[in-house]
Amino acid sequence: MLVHIGKIIHKKMIGRYAIPAFNTSNLEITEGVIRAAEAQKAPIILQTSVGALEYAGIEELVGLNKIAARNASVPIALHQDHCKDVELLKKLIGLGYSSVMIDVSGLPYEDNVKITREVVKYAHKAGVWVQAEIGRLLGNEDWQNVKSGEDLMTDPDEAAKFVAETGIDTLAVAVGTWHGIPVNPHTKKIMHTLKEHIDLPRLRAIATKVKIPLVVHGASGVPDVQLREAIKENVVVFNIDTDLRVAFNAALRKNIKNHPEIYDPRKLFAPATEALQKVAEEKLEILGTKGKA
Ligand SMILES: [Zn+2]
Repeated sequence: MLVHIGKIIHKKMIGRYAIPAFNTSNLEITEGVIRAAEAQKAPIILQTSVGALEYAGIEELVGLNKIAARNASVPIALHQDHCKDVELLKKLIGLGYSSVMIDVSGLPYEDNVKITREVVKYAHKAGVWVQAEIGRLLGNEDWQNVKSGEDLMTDPDEAAKFVAETGIDTLAVAVGTWHGIPVNPHTKKIMHTLKEHIDLPRLRAIATKVKIPLVVHGASGVPDVQLREAIKENVVVFNIDTDLRVAFNAALRKNIKNHPEIYDPRKLFAPATEALQKVAEEKLEILGTKGKA
């Protein structure tokens, strides 16, 4: 069932379990994560990126997700991931999203506050939650410029001030995770030596000063034990995308290689969707979401 995010993110869950926000950009991913949620009797957040909306079309992708969520046997909330475009957020609110992320964290602090407040004012009138970010999450395009990861992490005092000044509902924190898989800009090789982690002391310092629910992005690749520790520090949502993509891609490549006779895309995608579902189910177990629908 399609629900408001406030139905699945609430005080009683804090410190006990968290909800994965799974990114989707097509039918197979939406079906895979919803099947996982139904199999584990777990609530989930279905989220879109700006790139996914550009890929599939706004109304096309939102329509698919909304109907799939409505028909599911478990609670599912729609959320928009990182977005700088205020008009796009307004459109998505009109289409039924109950939560949106305004991300202008690349701008100077004062501008970030000003634009975020404007979105909060609009969204709250419609009963919609707003997520924003303070500190910058490492992303693929940032690797060339990064000297010290510390510079990009969320400062606990600044986070508390930001929350008070903007009135946001959830806060995305930068605590040592990153988006995607780091690729060396010169050699184009995957940098396997870089291990993702969550800076737990920093997260704890943020949690003592910020009283709204916390969100950790880029949670793929973080050790399970650290995810569970982070839940104790008020993290209620983990954004998960890369692990799903990796599982999907591996199964798809294997199927294509082993079965050159298949030409029906549905049959090519089927094992990939299953592999993605399996990883999503594992995440629901790790985060303690299983059985919480
Ligand atoms: Zn993110």
